This record gives sequence, structure tokens and C-alpha cells, in this order.
Amino acid sequence: MTTKHTVTLIPGDGIGPEVIDATRKIIEASGVAIHWEIRHAGASVFKQGIESGVPEETIESIRKNRIVLKGPLETPVGFGEKSANVTLRKLFETFANVRPVSEFEGVPTPYSGRKLDLVVIRENVEDLYAGIEHMQTPDVAQCLKLISRPGCEKIMRYAFEYARMEGRKTVHCATKANIMKLTEGLFKKVFEEVSKDYPDIEANHIIIDNCCHQLVKKPEQFDVIVTTNMNGDIMSDLTSALVGGLGFAPSANIGHNAAIFEAVHGSAPKYAGKNVINPTAAILSGVLMLKYLGELDAAVRIEAAVRKTWASANSKTRDIAGDSISVSTTEFTANVISHLAPAGQPKPRPGRVDTGKIVENLKSSSAVGRVDGADVFVEFKGSASELGAIMERCGESTAMKLKMISNRGTKVYPGRTDTACVDHWRCRFVNRNGKEISDRQIYDLLYRITDAKLKWVHIEKLQLFDGKAGFTKAQGED
Ligand code: NAD
Repeated sequence: MTTKHTVTLIPGDGIGPEVIDATRKIIEASGVAIHWEIRHAGASVFKQGIESGVPEETIESIRKNRIVLKGPLETPVGFGEKSANVTLRKLFETFANVRPVSEFEGVPTPYSGRKLDLVVIRENVEDLYAGIEHMQTPDVAQCLKLISRPGCEKIMRYAFEYARMEGRKTVHCATKANIMKLTEGLFKKVFEEVSKDYPDIEANHIIIDNCCHQLVKKPEQFDVIVTTNMNGDIMSDLTSALVGGLGFAPSANIGHNAAIFEAVHGSAPKYAGKNVINPTAAILSGVLMLKYLGELDAAVRIEAAVRKTWASANSKTRDIAGDSISVSTTEFTANVISHLAPAGQPKPRPGRVDTGKIVENLKSSSAVGRVDGADVFVEFKGSASELGAIMERCGESTAMKLKMISNRGTKVYPGRTDTACVDHWRCRFVNRNGKEISDRQIYDLLYRITDAKLKWVHIEKLQLFDGKAGFTKAQGED
């Protein structure tokens, strides 16, 4: 037996206990001594009335052990509880979600023989997953997409360090910076800045939709892809399908204080308890965990045994072989164990990026904001010209004047448009005399709007940062 580690083990929901059991048995058979501290999260915890889905004793265990192997957790859809997965990722600031996929001999796909081997590195805590959502009017919901400069720098440095560690040559940054110029644009900008520190790695930016197109058309051109949270969530299901599906996609959630290893797939409730699902993704997540723990020999041997199992003729689970000739989850697990080579010499290769180096030297911008106006969002049922007339009057003899009104991002006043308007309007007031706008001047405007019997629902200051607009224009705005 090698060194002893303590790992928090969360069996999870649905097929979780089956895939985690397979992973645990194989790791134990490899000879790595792990003390598993079993804790719970997800459906059973929500049922106890714990809204986060993660009880205190699970949080304590992770704080102490800093390493987690977990099964998928069910997320209630719609209203009420938050995702327990997202809670865990955020609580422990696991900022990098590493999702490698590679071709398996014996797993036929349209890409077989093309030797696919790529990694999606998904920013894991920001973006639309900040979870800040509001119904602003009866008809309009809003979700805030938050992207921070330090958050971008962390994930970019992680991606380049990971590429170096793995001996990979290229990092693509996939964004929608052409449309979301400030949020996705910041991600792209920081990528370009950070890439200068890694001249040995080729750095390319690619628009996310083209990236998905290219991934289906010519996936072998990609090595490491770094992307924002939402893009990465969607794209990594796509990349898993290139090599056989969700059953083959492992992941690591890496933070400075904790790392959580789990399959990309969910709890697949319809197969729970049936002993038919493919445990490969969870086993390979265990391999990522062993690399992280420095157990490189066992990691390499387990991965080789999984590959050998897939390459052998009669050892395929139902997702690949169909009902008639497939093996069960437990048979597959036993086959992997039978293919484990005897322990050898650990390979002298680092299996873990030094996150300390990344989180210690993050830069924040020194730019200073200057308020130049305000966007006032109002709930209003009526026409653009009616609202425009009221808002022109509200701005009269104040520090700001109405510049334009937009509805769902398109300018609808002044001028004519075919936009179908809903009950949520953004009224843009801009500086009238060149002086900085004070909070009192904004309150003054809001009082006038309230006196005009309009319901404002949200305001946003229009700021210039070192003279550059910190806001975008509406479609059609000059
Ligand atoms: P899912 O991943 O559970 O299932 C999608 C499809 O892939 C299904 O057809 C399923 O049968 C198949 N599949 C998934 N894993 C497989 C495996 N190991 N072997 C063979 N086939 C497999 O996604 P879903 O149905 O959208 O979500 C079900 C639940 O899981 C939801 O509550 C969701 O929120 C949750 N979820 C959790 C995580 C996580 O814990 N990290 C990730 C995704 C979804």
C-alpha cells in the first residue's frame, strides 16, 4: 500500500451510488490506500428541508479533506432550491472545471480513428451561474451575467499552466465577445493579456458558435479550449458525444482550497439501480483525482485497464452495445480490475497545477469610474411614444436629458421601429452639462419618474472608466 489519503465521498443520486461504487472498488484494487469519509448532498438532503442541498457535516468534511469524489446530484428544476452542485463549486471556489475527452478503442463513433484528445476548461463559478435572477416586471425575467477580471485571469492562467503540465501545444479561447462585448469581451481580453506570459503555447480566440461547428467538423484541431461557464457547460456535453457520449466524460473541479472530482453526466434517474450504466466517466474522474493526489502510477494503470476493457470484444455497457450483448455495470467493473497491471514505478510527471501561484498574484484594474448618466428601467404598458413624452418631461430642467428608450435592447424612441414591445423599458438619461452626475441628481430624476406615476424597477449607472464607456449601446442607438 502507498500513502494514505482521506477523501470525502459523496455517492450522489440516481446512478451515482453505482458509478461511485465501481470507481471506489477499482481504486482500492489498484493498491492506493484511501480512507473514504462518506457524506451526503443532493436529493436526500433537499428532502430534509436543507435548501442548499449540502448539509453542514458535508461542508466540514470537504473543508478538512479538501478532496471530494462525488456522484451526480439531482437538481430540482424551476423554482425553490438551488443546485447542490453549483453550491459546492461556489462554496469551495473551484474555479476551474477540467473536462478531458479522448478516443476509446472499441467505442465506435463517427470520429473513430481520428485520435481525438482534447480538454475543455470551463470557468466554474461566474457568468450566468452567479444565480442572480429577478422578475423585473410581470412579463420579464432577468439573469445577471457577471464576469470579473480576477476570475478571468485565474481560469486563463489555469488553462495555460494545465496545457504546459500536459505537454499540450494550443489553447483556444471560445467566447461570444462579438455580441457581449463587455462580459465575454473581458474574458477574451484577459486571455489575450495572459497568453503573452506563455509564448511556448499557441493561443487562438474563436467565436463559440464557430467553435461548436468546428468541433463537429474537425475536432482534432483542438487541444485545450478555455471558455465561460455556460458555454463550457453546453460545449462539454458536445465534446463527450464525440468520443461515445456522457458515459465517457470525466471532470475535475479545481480550486485552491478544494478539488471535486465527478463525471460530467447527471443522475440518469431512469437507469438508477438497474446495474446497466457505463461507469467509465466516474472511473476516469477517479483517475484525475489520483493524478491530483500524486498517485500517478495507479492513475496510469487504471486508465490503461479501462482502455483495455473497452478494447476487448465482450465488455461493453448498454449505452454502446445495446441491450442484448452488453455487460452490466458490475461486470464491467470486474473486467477493469482484471485488466489492472501490477504496480510499477510512478511516472515522473506532475499531475497537479500549482494553484497557489495562480491565486496569489491576480491583478485588478486601477481604472476609476465616473458617472455620466443613468439607465432607468420602468414597467409600462403603452406605446414607446407615450412613454417617451413622459420621460422627456421627467428629464426637463434636471442634470440629465432623455437620450433614448429601448425595449429588449432595441431603440424604440425617438424614431420608429417594428420591435414588439413588452412591459419592460430601458430609458437612457445622459449628462446635460458635462459634469459628473451625482447620486442626488439620480434620486431627483427617480422622484420625478415616481411623481409621473411610472413604476421604475431597476436602475443602472452609466459609468466611464478612465474615459471609456462601461456600458454598451442599444441596437439602433447612435
Ligand atoms: P443525465 O446526464 O443524467 O442524462 C442524459 C442522458 O445521458 C440520458 O439519456 C442518460 O441515460 C444518459 N447517461 C448519463 N450518464 C450515463 C452513463 N453513465 N451511462 C450511460 N448513459 C448515461 O442528464 P439529465 O437527464 O439532464 O439530468 C438528470 C439529473 O441529473 C438532473 O436532476 C440534473 O440536474 C442532474 N445533473 C447533475 C449533474 C452533476 O451532479 N454534476 C450533472 C448533470 C445533470
